[in-house]
Amino acid sequence: MSDKCIPEPCIKCNYEDLNEYSEYCPICGTYLFNHCSNDMCDCNNGESVILPNFYKYCDACGSQTTYLENGLIPDFEE
Ligand SMILES: [Zn+2]
Ligand SMILES: [Zn+2]
Repeated sequence: MSDKCIPEPCIKCNYEDLNEYSEYCPICGTYLFNHCSNDMCDCNNGESVILPNFYKYCDACGSQTTYLENGLIPDFEE
């Protein structure tokens, strides 16, 4: 594992042919990283820690993630 990694496939359209410098999906324009929505969280202290695409809540503080806030994570899976 290197510290620079290719983003996970786009959460919205599933486009996977992304580059390690990609920040936005070239197909649908969705931001490719999921962050904690709580500005006071340790995750956002200095640098924004990138959470896995499927995280709905921050594992450090329990706040909603930006993906959940923006309606990018479907709510149907229990
Ligand atoms: Zn996309
Ligand atoms: Zn948090």
